Amino acid sequence: MAPVAVLRLAPGRDRSLRHRHPWIFSGAVARVEGAPAAGATVEVRAHDGSVLALAAYSPRSQIRARVWSFEPATVDAAFLGERVRRAVAARAAMLDARHSGCRLVHGESDGLPGVIADRYGDTVVLQLLAAGADAWREVIADALVAHTGAACVVERSDAEVRALEGLDPRSGVLRGSLREPVTFVEDGIAYEVDVLHGQKTGFYLDQRDNRRLVRERARGAEVLNAFCYTGGFSLAALAGRASSALSIDSSAEALALARTNLARNPALSGSAHWQEGDVFAELRNLRAAGRAFDLVVLDPPKFAPTAKHAPKAARAYKDVNLWALKLLRPGGLLATFSCSGGITADLFQKIVAGAALDAKADAAIVGRMSASADHPVALAFPEGDYLKGLLVRRR
Ligand code: SAH
Repeated sequence: MAPVAVLRLAPGRDRSLRHRHPWIFSGAVARVEGAPAAGATVEVRAHDGSVLALAAYSPRSQIRARVWSFEPATVDAAFLGERVRRAVAARAAMLDARHSGCRLVHGESDGLPGVIADRYGDTVVLQLLAAGADAWREVIADALVAHTGAACVVERSDAEVRALEGLDPRSGVLRGSLREPVTFVEDGIAYEVDVLHGQKTGFYLDQRDNRRLVRERARGAEVLNAFCYTGGFSLAALAGRASSALSIDSSAEALALARTNLARNPALSGSAHWQEGDVFAELRNLRAAGRAFDLVVLDPPKFAPTAKHAPKAARAYKDVNLWALKLLRPGGLLATFSCSGGITADLFQKIVAGAALDAKADAAIVGRMSASADHPVALAFPEGDYLKGLLVRRR
């Protein structure tokens, strides 16, 4: 259906759209002509009337509209189905005998703003995080089934960001029937995923390549995995023949699943210890107990969702990095991450440098990490580049 409503931009506020950035902030909007419902497609026009894009309208959000298309198009089931098909096809090479999970749709960077879909074996988990995405729930679910052959599509639209869009949390089975436990393999390691209650869609697929890197560096190492969730980096390290892995998380549910995951991989050797606790306190306790490690992984939650949270987040990142470096033996490696949109790669490096200085650790960056290729970053959408990691060697 052709859009009936027009979103007219304020004078001089068309620049980012002309650079194909997909977000239209409320401050850039001069007026809305017509009465579009939340999620309806609107035509976006510059102040002079030239047509710039078709976008999904979100009356409650600071991000007032998200672009579906910069070209003339009809935004309908065929249009969205084609976007889903292309996103799924782009991941074909990432699924093979050793990997049965990956992100299939990565929002804005796949031309589907607010749509996230992750595959775990036969199950696809869908998150709809914006009004436009939410309005096309059934169409997107059908397209995912058609293009993946998945036996089940589960919705996990319970992320807090939905509130900013005026959307209530929603989760449950959308297509097919859910057969639990849901399992998949990553790099030959079997994992169980709690798709209905786990964090995000149940697993942090973005760290796939970085778990591989840790695996390759783990031989013989005593490993500390802080913020371990369901044990991904720990199992990767043990698969790489680490001598031991001590894993810490504050979530008892995550640790229970981590233990289950280890049991699902009887071929893994090395000793595993799971510790429920607060990483900020536990790192200090380990130091007080005289412990030291050859490889430390630090993958904390998003301390700074936006730039406004950066100063407080910076202190938290510095603290955990400082104590991690103190726990690292000379010659040891720290794999340290930030998944905060509000912390740039540059700032993150400065924080880690400050931590090394205060820890009196002479250290050097020997590698840089980002999200795996199934989490692309559209060049016009640098906000998509949220995950940054540094591999640091202590001299
Ligand atoms: N590295 C993991 C993902 C980590 S997500 C993987 O590869 O799967 C961040 C984790 O930090 C979550 O599991 C959360 O429960 C945990 N967490 C958050 N704050 C914490 C704290 N202060 N102490 C310990 N764990 C914490």
